Amino acid sequence: MKREKIADVLSNGQVGNDVLVKGWVRSFRANRFIAINDGSTIKNIQAVVDFENFDETILKRITTASAIAVKGKIVESQGAGQAIEIEVVDVEILGDANPEEVQKTVMQPRKHGLEFLREQAHLRFRTNTFGAVFRIRHAVAYAIHKFFNDQGFYYLHTPIVTGSDAEGAGEMFRVTNLDPVNPPMLDGEVDYSQDFFGKPVNLTVSGQLEAELGALALGQVYTFGPTFRAENSNTSRHLAEFWMIEPEVAFNDLKDNMDLTEDFLKYIAQYVLDNCADDLQFLHDREVKEDSQKPTAERNEMNLIDRLKFVVENEFKRLTYTEAIEVLKRSKPYKKKKFQYDVEWGIDLQSEHERYLVEKEFKCPVILTDYPAEIKAFYMRQNDDGKTVAAMDVLFPGIGEIVGGSQREERLDVLKSKMADFDIPEEELWWYLDTRKFGTVPHAGFGLGFERMIMFVTGMTNIRDVIPFPRTPQNAEF
Ligand code: ATP
Ligand code: MN
Repeated sequence: MKREKIADVLSNGQVGNDVLVKGWVRSFRANRFIAINDGSTIKNIQAVVDFENFDETILKRITTASAIAVKGKIVESQGAGQAIEIEVVDVEILGDANPEEVQKTVMQPRKHGLEFLREQAHLRFRTNTFGAVFRIRHAVAYAIHKFFNDQGFYYLHTPIVTGSDAEGAGEMFRVTNLDPVNPPMLDGEVDYSQDFFGKPVNLTVSGQLEAELGALALGQVYTFGPTFRAENSNTSRHLAEFWMIEPEVAFNDLKDNMDLTEDFLKYIAQYVLDNCADDLQFLHDREVKEDSQKPTAERNEMNLIDRLKFVVENEFKRLTYTEAIEVLKRSKPYKKKKFQYDVEWGIDLQSEHERYLVEKEFKCPVILTDYPAEIKAFYMRQNDDGKTVAAMDVLFPGIGEIVGGSQREERLDVLKSKMADFDIPEEELWWYLDTRKFGTVPHAGFGLGFERMIMFVTGMTNIRDVIPFPRTPQNAEF
């Protein structure tokens, strides 16, 4: 007999049919009702054993977390909460779970704080919350590929080990196989000419520069890969290893770039609404329950499902950085000196400012454009005012910056003088500058932090809880 997935049995199972399911025991009540989960859905299937006719040594081994195979007949359920259940004919124990250890961890759901679970590698995956998060994470990854594929983009694999340290997106991790204790030295410094690649190399912080080369030949490309930033910022929105999606499109200007971003983010939100209903509902209810225990001021103004619908149904507010500074200067918290950081044209907006704009002033996703050149990367296109660049940041409620992008500087002379301003040697990026020498065209792109998007669609408030194995300062245990 072939094993059926619990998701399939629950949605298509015919009463009267024989069925074989395998999974992990979530609970075993009254020596009679086994709740089994196999990861195919957040829902458990209920298997009912007629304990009087069962070998007691087998029944004893049906403990929470143990793995079992259950053969039986699909029947209409007598109890509330499920339409069908399995009338068990045969149970096979596939893997025992030591009841004492289970008692210490698995059986104390109240202790399953998200922090505690981060230290329980295997158990974390077995919980409803993380099951839902990781199923949704998968669905979003798939939706991203589908979105781009449907629009004729090519998925470009940019390198993870890079030789250019001029990308300027953040602190980098050095990759070397030189002897860490006694590296070869030359003039008092480590001699990287003897290293594997004959030069210092790092883990990538962004695939953008390489993606630009792809876009300027293939037209429209996107990357979707891991990126690494050795930033020592222990926040709820930063990881040392995270995944980024970076589309890059030839002939697009800033307006096209904003339109693409907005369509893309809406598509993802709609995809989750359409395809992840059970998991989304679970996370929604979980949040409602958590909120009910918080003071009113800390509760979400809109619940999870409504937040997704809101993103799909409403246009993002678009305004320039300069306009945003004016809005902030007119704001109540500014006048009452409630902002911790000052507001002045030229500052890098702090998260308190971004949150004010998104959550208080506009109450919707916001796209800020045309930032001062000094606070943005060298490759962003210089505007005619000479002071600002064609940059855009997308700010989301509860998350802050979710996307950063720009129209790129396609003019070789302007790009070179920008690099000089930023102290970036031309020799480092000769391969990048070449694109501006041979048929350069306007082009634009952006980077979406995958985990920030997963936070948004799951309602999780710590970025560590939306990635299977978080990497943060002082933390890479498993
Ligand atoms: P932030 O100001 O939040 O640190 P950033 O300006 O460094 O972001 P970019 O370099 O523009 O971000 O990267 C593009 C996107 O990647 C960001 O909009 C964000 O969604 C995501 N991102 C950046 N840094 C991290 C990180 N350390 N962990 C997770 N996601 C990140
Ligand atoms: Mn950063």
